[in-house]
Amino acid sequence: MIELETPPPGQPPASPASFEHRRLRDGTFWQTVPRYAGVDEATFLDHVWQGRNSVKTPEELFATIEGLVDETFIADAREGFELAPMAVRVSPYLIAAIDWSQPYNDPIRRQFIPLRSTARSDHPRLTFDSLHEQQDSPVPGLIHRYADKVLFLPTQTCPVYCRFCTRSYVIGPDTESVDKLALGKTPDAWGPVFDYIAAHPEIEDVVISGGDTYQLAPKNITLIGNALLAIPHVRRMRFATKGLAVMPMKILTDPAWVDALVGVVDRGRAIGKEVVVHTHFNHPNEITAITARAMAVLFERGVYVRNQTVLMRGVNDDAATMLLLVKRLEYVNIHPYYVYVHDLVSGVEDLRTSVQTALDIEKTVRGATAGYNTPTFVCDAPGGGGKRDVHSFEWYDRETGVSVWTAPSVKPGKYFLYFDPLNALEPRMQARWAVPELQDRMIADALAHAGGTVAALA
Ligand SMILES: *Cc1c(COP(=O)(O)O)cnc(C)c1O
Ligand code: SF4
Repeated sequence: MIELETPPPGQPPASPASFEHRRLRDGTFWQTVPRYAGVDEATFLDHVWQGRNSVKTPEELFATIEGLVDETFIADAREGFELAPMAVRVSPYLIAAIDWSQPYNDPIRRQFIPLRSTARSDHPRLTFDSLHEQQDSPVPGLIHRYADKVLFLPTQTCPVYCRFCTRSYVIGPDTESVDKLALGKTPDAWGPVFDYIAAHPEIEDVVISGGDTYQLAPKNITLIGNALLAIPHVRRMRFATKGLAVMPMKILTDPAWVDALVGVVDRGRAIGKEVVVHTHFNHPNEITAITARAMAVLFERGVYVRNQTVLMRGVNDDAATMLLLVKRLEYVNIHPYYVYVHDLVSGVEDLRTSVQTALDIEKTVRGATAGYNTPTFVCDAPGGGGKRDVHSFEWYDRETGVSVWTAPSVKPGKYFLYFDPLNALEPRMQARWAVPELQDRMIADALAHAGGTVAALA
């Protein structure tokens, strides 16, 4: 008779890897960048110094990383910038977080510094402003797509400029290839936004984004916060900022800004309204001991923070990296909220992944930690359907990469299409996308399977 060994009850001892999320980069790590070798902690933590020393041109960037990378990389990046539709801005914090011994593979480099050698042509069905935000904009600087919530864009600048920005049609100064639309950016321009929200009693939720609310002066945080809290039907507000991911030290060294934010949060709490921060981390390396200190301040002062991540090839498109990101976020008291399938943005085809990648990673992430800290993986349906759970497609043809979506509570009766990047498809399928009639046929086929028609496309 075979004797079965009964395992002891409970879990086996945890592997060292399962503690990786607690190992935050600490000390004067920035001093490995020659330019910052003599920068002491007090200086590096100064948000004014971070802003002043953010690189704002490719040449400034190259001067900063001189000696860390070879000429081939510099030439590749120089040509990459010439192709890019975004302006450049990278904080010293991020430059120091990049592993310059592996600049081609580094997940932070990929997000901020384009390379000619990895550039891919756009998908043939990609259009600028793929989310059709301008069609849902009743007054400049406001997007009203969902019944009970609006997106307010009070500023056009950010502490950094991300290559993959969905709003590259409006964010940042003009670049060689794009003239930015002029959206509201001064307090004078906000009046019509407040009036519109006040006149629409169905609006309960306001996302204050941009641009980035890190760029708003403390008095404007207060002005916007008070104006919105004063509208009786506004119940919830979120200040969106990428700042925590790219310049966490502002929370430690800009008390006026933190006080303004906490002031709005506290006033909201006193009158029964929720005011929170939404931020945007994409990779575990963006979270350091400085982030943990910044989050300790916000947590202690009662500011709740949620995170939105963009799924990107070579950045976080494997389950181990995404899991580490989720675990590290929750470790510093940031709640993982969404992971987005990359929007159809021009010039960043090298960063997009397929819907299938999102489905696969979600399967691994779910179950690894608390359910309330498990992000929902979504696809922001191009054409204005809003965010849809990646599992909820009406039809998904993995061969052509076409997925079909509906959004009954957002645009009833309409159909929306997302296209996987061509580089995720078989060469035979990539060739089909080169022929316009075949494109139309692949789209019509997918719509037919989904029970829709070309006429019902958003
Ligand atoms: C993302 C977004 C919102 C907020 O959506 P949630 O799913 O509630 O996070 C609101 N308006 C617009 C236009 C958006 O894109
Ligand atoms: S911080 Fe946000 S809004 Fe600004 S460039 Fe990056 S993704 Fe775009």
